[in-house]
Amino acid sequence: MIKKILIANRGEIALRILRACREMDIKVVAVHSTADSSAKHVLMADESVCIGPGPAKESYLNMQSIMAAAEITGADAIHPGFGFLSENAKFAQMVEDHGMIFIGPVPEHILMMGDKVQAIKAAIELGIPTVPGSGGAVETVEDAKRWCAEIGCPVLIKAASGGGGKGMKVINTLDETESQYRLAKSEALANFGDDRVYMEKYLGQPRHIEIQVLGDGKGHAIHLGERDCSIQRRHQKVLEEAPSPVITAEQRHELGEICANAMRKMKYRGLGTIEFLYENGKFYFIEMNTRIQVEHPVTELITGIDLVHEQISVAAGHPLTLQQSDITFHGHSIECRINAEDAETFMPSPGTVTRFHTPGGPGIRVDSALYAGYQIPPYYDSMVAKLIAHGKDRAQCLGRMRRALKEFYVEGVKTNIQLHQRLMENEDIISGDYTIHWLEKKFLNDQ
Ligand code: ADP
Repeated sequence: MIKKILIANRGEIALRILRACREMDIKVVAVHSTADSSAKHVLMADESVCIGPGPAKESYLNMQSIMAAAEITGADAIHPGFGFLSENAKFAQMVEDHGMIFIGPVPEHILMMGDKVQAIKAAIELGIPTVPGSGGAVETVEDAKRWCAEIGCPVLIKAASGGGGKGMKVINTLDETESQYRLAKSEALANFGDDRVYMEKYLGQPRHIEIQVLGDGKGHAIHLGERDCSIQRRHQKVLEEAPSPVITAEQRHELGEICANAMRKMKYRGLGTIEFLYENGKFYFIEMNTRIQVEHPVTELITGIDLVHEQISVAAGHPLTLQQSDITFHGHSIECRINAEDAETFMPSPGTVTRFHTPGGPGIRVDSALYAGYQIPPYYDSMVAKLIAHGKDRAQCLGRMRRALKEFYVEGVKTNIQLHQRLMENEDIISGDYTIHWLEKKFLNDQ
């Protein structure tokens, strides 16, 4: 039994986890930086420990301080949330070595999916469809040329240790291969301390579709359908929806079962997201995230399943009692990521929130740690709230989101609420006709 969880995170996700703990009668330890002393997750927790100064490297990424806080407070488990240490296998191992539960998968699975080359190999072995490509690290210029010719231009070079969309280079014609390959390798080394790169077909008009999976580490696993996260800027998701407007029930069932089966074979424990690009009726694996995702609420709203609750339960060693047949999908859900940022430049806009009024009413959920008087520190991600709408169908959901965005007041800092308002009125959004390039290449260009 887990009696006390230390949440190694901050902001809205720390609150989301805290809420699940409260409902499960589990005590909560918050950790925080000096910049977060009056953050909501600290004010709401049963206990809190300061783990270091503002910069994340010295606090939320400081494994020793977090472990010390867990020891001092007698926590039996650590929930890493997303970002920070959530996909750090060394940290997961450290937690287990201290006799505590890491609320996530076993370290081996984090490691396997954290390395892109290994993840693709694993996906192929597990029967998950991948993007045509080298499938492994490309070691020499000659190999790069050979792969480029075989895959056919345009080709994408990706860093094996890449993340956040960084370290990718497109080869449009064969004669660019050598220069782009060398550039990609040196950028990968500079950014990730690892110069291994691999190559795959560059897809021109894909959508980003991801499947939510949940396993109990004992061979039982299910899927909870897909999320469409194609609306992106610089590879960062801006809004997400479930179900995808372009996926049929048959496709959902087929791809979902492929993913759930893979998790059964792996004996995967916890929540996971298997990300795909989708083009011309085909799905191509790009990566697997071994943690809770920012956009998990849209899945919760259409399935009625509390994902954090399930995640804690399987981490505690309980078998997953949900069967695939228990998962049914109701209506439609959309999430808008509300960032404290400049509308024109997209630069973060930290500062003091002078007014904070959240929308409510039918089908509206707000996940946020903001309050009037709160000072948003400059050190962390600019996402400060998630506005999530649910409706019986996509049209009702869009209507509720439009209405809720007009009720949302955040003053004192700049936000992207108006951007979301414009998106919700856009014809392509209303018809669901968009790809991963739509926001940057079309919508923002037209503004
Ligand atoms: P990261 O870990 O850096 O986020 P991903 O492999 O998830 O790397 O890719 C990031 C983004 O890059 C994807 O969401 C997609 O927008 C784009 N992308 C990745 N692979 C391809 C591809 N083969 N063709 C076109 N776009 C791609």
